[in-house]
Amino acid sequence: EAKERGEGGYQRYRPGSEAPGAERRRITAALTAALERDELVLHYQPVVALPEGRLTGVEALVRWNHPERGLLGPGDFIPGAERTGMIVPLGRWVLREACRQAVAWTAELGDQAPGTMSVNASARQLQEASFAVDVAAVLAETGMDPRRLTIEITESTAVGGGATQESLRALRAMGVRLSLDDFGTGASTLSLLANCPVDQIKLDRSFAPVPGPDAIAGAVLQIARAMGVEAVAEGVETSAQAAKLGDLGYVRAQGFHFARPMSPEQIAAAISEPAESLAAPR
Ligand code: C2E
Ligand code: MG
Ligand code: MG
Ligand code: MG
Repeated sequence: EAKERGEGGYQRYRPGSEAPGAERRRITAALTAALERDELVLHYQPVVALPEGRLTGVEALVRWNHPERGLLGPGDFIPGAERTGMIVPLGRWVLREACRQAVAWTAELGDQAPGTMSVNASARQLQEASFAVDVAAVLAETGMDPRRLTIEITESTAVGGGATQESLRALRAMGVRLSLDDFGTGASTLSLLANCPVDQIKLDRSFAPVPGPDAIAGAVLQIARAMGVEAVAEGVETSAQAAKLGDLGYVRAQGFHFARPMSPEQIAAAISEPAESLAAPR
């Protein structure tokens, strides 16, 4: 498994067997090389409208096309990128590539193109005093409409200090939307919602409804409505869950039941071909 192979580096190592300084230098060098060699790729997972499953947007999810280890998921290298600070240049690349792709899809597909582009950001990125300025530069460079961009942060990021709050405020002032990812798994959910101005919450997939009563999924939707915030259900894997969420009143959902994260080519094909390819996960 990925964890045993170690994070972000070329050689196998056991956690704890390497001095922290050496580990940091190895991860920094490996991720710097990955960026220089253009080895990172974005896959995109559709966000759909319930109940019919029409595509309304996508979430960008980073992968590393590693020359020796194959396609690595974010769990294999994002933690190391966060520890070393490499998440800042990596995150900038992700944002630029996602915006470039969104604008390219609009040129190619017109009204059929995904309306919104969601990009995940780590706490470390929002702590940078220049984060909002960097986002503004990427928007200007790519021609991306800020209102089509959603930055996803976790609850623990949202409770960050002064620089984080300033980044969040500046993003919203630019018209960029904010989403609280993995909603319900953090420690300060409700007080956070009252104090942090977000546009969307993403109900964590651990709360996707199971047969029987769906107290949490239903209650979270009521809270979101009361706060005037959009709710998206993540990690929807079955038609029963999709139907239940629709019955509860959810109008946005994401999950393997609708579509897996896909390459840009697969997204474009799914949009221009019959609905079949969006519904059938690859
Ligand atoms: P996330 O933002 O909550 O993204 C959703 C994750 O759940 C994705 O995993 C997606 O493939 C997976 N998923 C989607 N639908 C389902 C489902 O129905 N069932 C199950 N079991 N899983 C589903 P992925 O791509 O491995 O990403 C994991 C996490 O890595 C993301 O969680 C996000 O926190 C982080 N991440 C991904 N890309 C980036 C990035 O560019 N920057 C940063 N800072 N973090 C990223
Ligand atoms: Mg996310
Ligand atoms: Mg999530
Ligand atoms: Mg999640």
